[in-house]
Amino acid sequence: MGASAVVWFKRDLRLADHAPLREAARLGDAVALYVVEPAWVGSAECEAQHLEFARRQVLALRECLGRRGLPLLVRWGSLPEVLAGLRSAYPFTHLLSHEETGPQWSYDRDRAVARWCREAGVIWRQWPQKGVIRGLRERAGWAARWQGRMDARIEPAPARWRGAGGLPIGEWPDARIRQAGHGAARELPAAGEAAAHDTLASFLDVRGQRYRFDISSPSSAVRACSRLSAHLAFGALSVRQVHQATEARIAALQAVGDAEARSFAYHLRGFSARLRWHCHFMQKLESEPQIEWRNVARVCDGLREQAFDRERFDAWRTGNTGYPMVDACMRCLNATGWINFRMRAMLVSFAAYHLWLHWREPGLHLARQFLDFEPGIHWSQMQMQSGTTGINTLRMYSPARQHADHDPRSEFIRRWLPEYGTAAYVRPIVDERAALHLARQRLYTLRRTPEARREAAEVQRRHGSRRGGLPPTRRRAGAGRVRDADPAQRELPFDDAGRA
Ligand SMILES: Cc1cc2nc3c(=O)[nH]c(=O)nc-3n(C[C@H](O)[C@H](O)[C@H](O)COP(=O)(O)OP(=O)(O)OC[C@H]3O[C@@H](n4cnc5c(N)ncnc54)[C@H](O)[C@@H]3O)c2cc1C
Repeated sequence: MGASAVVWFKRDLRLADHAPLREAARLGDAVALYVVEPAWVGSAECEAQHLEFARRQVLALRECLGRRGLPLLVRWGSLPEVLAGLRSAYPFTHLLSHEETGPQWSYDRDRAVARWCREAGVIWRQWPQKGVIRGLRERAGWAARWQGRMDARIEPAPARWRGAGGLPIGEWPDARIRQAGHGAARELPAAGEAAAHDTLASFLDVRGQRYRFDISSPSSAVRACSRLSAHLAFGALSVRQVHQATEARIAALQAVGDAEARSFAYHLRGFSARLRWHCHFMQKLESEPQIEWRNVARVCDGLREQAFDRERFDAWRTGNTGYPMVDACMRCLNATGWINFRMRAMLVSFAAYHLWLHWREPGLHLARQFLDFEPGIHWSQMQMQSGTTGINTLRMYSPARQHADHDPRSEFIRRWLPEYGTAAYVRPIVDERAALHLARQRLYTLRRTPEARREAAEVQRRHGSRRGGLPPTRRRAGAGRVRDADPAQRELPFDDAGRA
C-alpha cells in the first residue's frame, strides 16, 4: 500500500511556509482536516469571535486548497474520535501537523492523538512553525536557534496535491457552537491569508513609519502597530514570513539611505525585535505548561488567592473602576477585541496591584476579549505584569500618568467612556496610594527572603534568555540592537518602547 496523508490544520491556517502541506504532496494521496474541538469551544478562553475568525479562515483556505486538488474536511469532535471515523473511510498512513504550544486541553489532546496513532499504526509527524523549541532544557543558546529558524529558506507551496476523493467535506458546526452557549461574534477584521498579507504590506510600506513613537498611546497605536497579532495567532502568516519580509524591507530602506528611509528602518527594527519576543514568551509555556494556572515563582503561592474580591473584579472587567484610563481601555477592548501592549500592561497592573486580584480570572477575561489570544504570550505576560515571576522588576502603572502621557486631551477616554466628567461616572473603587503601598510592602518583603532569591536564580536559568545565545554578527551590531534582539536577557524590565 502506498503512503497517504492527513494534513491536520490547527493554528497554522495558511498555504505558504507550511511543511506538512509540502510533505503531503511528496508522500502520495492526501486530504486536509480541520477539527472544531469541543474541548476548545467549551474552554474558558474561547469566545464567539475566535470561532468566527477561525471559520472564515478555514473556509477561505478550503477554496484555495480545493483549487489545487486538496479537499479540506471540517469535522466536529475529539481528535481520536474524528481520526478513527476518517480512517474507516480513508485508510491513511501518515498524520502531518505543526507543533502547538497551547493550553492544558491541547496538551491532553496531543497525548491522546499520539496514543491513537500508536495503536492505529499511523505515523504522526510534527514540524515546528515558530522559534519555539520543544524539549528545551535551558535557555542558553535559544536566541541563536531562533535566528536560524527565522532565516531558513521559505520553500514554495506545492502547485497541486493528489487529493483523495469521495469523502464528505463537512460543514462548519454552527449548531454545536450555539449549543455550547456561543452567540454572535463582534465585528471582526478581515480574516485569511490574503488579508494578513495586505495588513503586513500596509504596515511595512506606510503604517510602520512612526512605530516606536506611536505604539504607546491607545489612539495612535490602532494604526501604528502592525495589527498582525491575530493573523500570527491563527497562523495566516508565519513568524518567519513576517521576519523575512521585515528584514528585506529594512535592507531596502537602508539602501535608499536618506534620512526618511533611515528613520523608517529604525522604527522597523523595533518591530522586528518583537517577533523574537513572540517566541521568547511562548517558549516559557512550552517549557513549563503549568504556568497557565500556577505561579512561575512558587514563593508567590498563597499571596493573592484567598483575597479574590469578585465585586472588584466585576468593576474591572466591565470598565467601572472609577479610573478613567482603565475603564476606557477596558471598554475599548471589550468592544473591539484589541488594545495595545502598554494599555494591556496597565490593565493587568491595575488588577494585580490596585485591586490585589490573582491573575488567573483577569487573564481568562482578557483571553476571551483578545482576538489574538496566544496562550504562551498571554500567560507569561499575565504573570510578568502581576509580579509573580520572581525575576522581573515590579512595574506598577499609574492610570493618571498614562492618561496624561498618552491621552492628554482625553479624546480616547471620552470616546469610550461617555459618562466621563459627569455625575454619572462612578467614584474610584480603591484608594490608589494605600493600595499600592500595601502591594509594594507585601511583594518586596516576600522578594527579600532567601527562599525567593534562590528561586529567582532558578527561574532565570529556566526562562530568562542570554546575551551569549546571540549569533556573533548580531552581538557586534551594538548594545541597543542586542537589547532589542533579546529583551529578556537577565529578564530586566523592558517596556513597549524597547527601553530597559
Ligand atoms: C497582559 C498581556 C497579555 C498579552 N496577551 C497577548 C496574546 O494573547 N496574544 C498576543 O499576540 N500578544 C499578547 N500580548 C502582547 C502584545 O500586547 C500584543 O502582541 C500586541 O499588542 C498585538 O498587537 P500588534 O500585532 O499590532 O503588535 P505589534 O506591536 O505590531 O507587534 C508585532 C508582533 O510582535 C509580537 N509582540 C508584540 N509585543 C509583544 C510582547 N510584549 N510579548 C510578546 N510578543 C509581542 C506579537 O506577535 C505582535 O503581533 C499581551 C501583552 C500583555 C501585557
